Amino acid sequence: MIQVASIGYPRIGPKRELKKALEQFWKGDIQEQDLHNVAKNLRKQNWQTQKDCGVDLISCNDFSFYDQVLDAICLLGAVPKRYKWDGNEVNLKTYFAMARGSQTSELDVPALEMTKWFDTNYHYLVPELSKDQSFKISSNKPFAEYEEAKQAGFNTKPVILGPLSFLLLGKGIDGLNTIDLLDKIIPVYKEVVKKFADLGAEWIQIDEPILVKDLDSNVVSKIKNTLNELKQAAGSSKILLTTYFEDLNEDVKEEVFASDVDVIHLDLVRGTKNKGYVKNSKKQLSLGLVDGRNVWKTNLQEKIDFVKDNVSGDVIIASSCPLLHSPYDLELEQKVPDEIKRWLSFAKQKLQELSVIKGCVNEGSHKEELESNTADVQDRKTSKLIHDDAVKNRIKTINQSIVNRKSSYPERAVVQKEIFALPKYPTTTIGSFPQTTDVRQARAKFKRGELDGQSYDKFLEEKTIDTIKKQEEIGIDVIVHGEFERNDMVEYFGEQLKGFTFTSSGFVQSYGSRCVKPPIIFGNVSRPKPMTVRWSKFAQEQTKQIVKGMLTGPITILQWSFVRDDQPRKFTAQEIGFAIRDEVEDLEKNGIRMIQIDEPALREGLPLKKKDWKEYLTWSVDCFKISAAVVKDETQIHTHMCYAEFEDIIDSIAALDADVISIETSRSRMELLTTFEKFKYPNEVGPGVYDIHSPRVPSKDEMKELIQKASKLIDPSRVWVNPDCGLKTRGWPETIDALTKMVDAAKELRAE
Ligand code: GLN
Ligand code: ZN
Repeated sequence: MIQVASIGYPRIGPKRELKKALEQFWKGDIQEQDLHNVAKNLRKQNWQTQKDCGVDLISCNDFSFYDQVLDAICLLGAVPKRYKWDGNEVNLKTYFAMARGSQTSELDVPALEMTKWFDTNYHYLVPELSKDQSFKISSNKPFAEYEEAKQAGFNTKPVILGPLSFLLLGKGIDGLNTIDLLDKIIPVYKEVVKKFADLGAEWIQIDEPILVKDLDSNVVSKIKNTLNELKQAAGSSKILLTTYFEDLNEDVKEEVFASDVDVIHLDLVRGTKNKGYVKNSKKQLSLGLVDGRNVWKTNLQEKIDFVKDNVSGDVIIASSCPLLHSPYDLELEQKVPDEIKRWLSFAKQKLQELSVIKGCVNEGSHKEELESNTADVQDRKTSKLIHDDAVKNRIKTINQSIVNRKSSYPERAVVQKEIFALPKYPTTTIGSFPQTTDVRQARAKFKRGELDGQSYDKFLEEKTIDTIKKQEEIGIDVIVHGEFERNDMVEYFGEQLKGFTFTSSGFVQSYGSRCVKPPIIFGNVSRPKPMTVRWSKFAQEQTKQIVKGMLTGPITILQWSFVRDDQPRKFTAQEIGFAIRDEVEDLEKNGIRMIQIDEPALREGLPLKKKDWKEYLTWSVDCFKISAAVVKDETQIHTHMCYAEFEDIIDSIAALDADVISIETSRSRMELLTTFEKFKYPNEVGPGVYDIHSPRVPSKDEMKELIQKASKLIDPSRVWVNPDCGLKTRGWPETIDALTKMVDAAKELRAE
């Protein structure tokens, strides 16, 4: 028998209803009850959609007001002391204090730390666990949701984050190794499972995505017993253990398959090795056949054949991972051209695909749907829109002379020092300047057609001129144009590149109420015409000082988009690398002498398993170099990175061979500096001397101290002075204040 399972559905609402309600609630515009009503409607709608799509195992407790890990923190009563929780049922006040911080007279605390969920663009709140941590069921939410579904007529499968993932994703304070809390947490998990069983749940889904990571042997040795304990508590209820985002390593697979859980879910989209675990498996499996992280229509025939070839007994089929990472419903889409739309599938369509697979394998039904799917899949394979031979041929030409600069850094540095004649500790910024309300309003009006192109252009010119003047007055050495014409650092480029398309409805949750709408890269990428030359050139004409050109790098563009799945990511990145290369070349031809290529997302593209890092880093570094290496020795290439934790990839960062890198350090200043202590960074560096993420303006002396510290580890002749990221989220007064102090700090150090 085949059953279709939904292992998690998006929750923000098809029209982002939850986002809107949350933000209204936080502002005080609606009451708690109103928020609950919106949530309740969304849940009901989700259950109904899943049912209508033919799902046999419908999820509950995949809903969350903010984050499923935060929900688990509440369920287990792992609220850190500073939130002054009274130990009863965790209420919304405490919940949102952990999510967003609280600034009331009773409770003045920052939020929990937030970090990326595996290699997705979703962020979770990090459990903070202490040595004397205790756990007890402290939230009724999962059980209430199960009952709510039942009352609404849906027999659902509750989903909870498993104990191993919960602990290993958490951070131990005072030197605690979080896995050491396993014996303490299991009894509470057993209570949770038993409670669901008592309520009548036929299935209980336990999410353990951590199992796809490299786990040390101590953890591996605990897997089987942990799972068995949970199964024991479940009694006759069945446990679906889900793993996703990658393969299970051999050692983990052995343990999981030897456990008593009823069904194991494997990601068969990203996990190629996982496919080998399917045939002759003694365990019943849930096959993650449909890509839960991308937007492409599934090749159904291929999946049907896979199931027929590999499975004989009972099986569950599902998306590769929870559909949290997919947009809602393609039927709502209004922007993507029809020729491309027929290749796409969002969350709802993915469930329908699963039901077609089931129908076709089972009794040969759903023939029509299969035929139209085959036609769409075929159309995509051969479409002229996608395939551009010139681009395909160009990436075949990659060789050392394309990837490498003409001379080595020390040689270039001599030339550049002479022609730029910058003072010691040159000052600069990262690119963007405050995107104030007037800037955003003008853009919105222009987009709506209420402001004509000429007036909008004029407005941007004025903004740019004004920003250049301000930088001159402050005394910044290398200035920027301010990026007022840009909405977003990826979208701005994607909109001008061939091979990209944009949706009106393709939102996915990033964190809390925040969503992103990634561009879709559907075809070979190229750059039909210059993208930034107009603004860089205009800016350079306004001043005698050097204006730095400003581009987004190939890996960041790749990382923040839905990427085509019909060729390796590497090829797509190389194509983007060439598109940026063309832009770099044009900037240089037009008199731009310094060009910054931002790569803030280089690190987040790292594969989940260490064994795959090297390959990724090799091609991603090369893609950056393809985009940069076209210039003469006299042209200075800058790059910028943020989001810290550079330690493990510092040699790859050096391998980018940018003349100058500006890097985020102010929040984790010590860590980065120790990294530089261990690794002698060979080129020029601008360690961010102040944190732009906070409105706080640091003192001149604080910045001086940081520059001095950096100068002990890096030859002072290679140290630049800059903030740690772009200034677009800041206001003008604090920006001017901070930059003035920054310039003063550099000037004083020069004099010393
Ligand atoms: N140049 C971009 C800016 O200043 C860089 C943004 C980023 O690093 N995320 O806004
Ligand atoms: Zn940045």
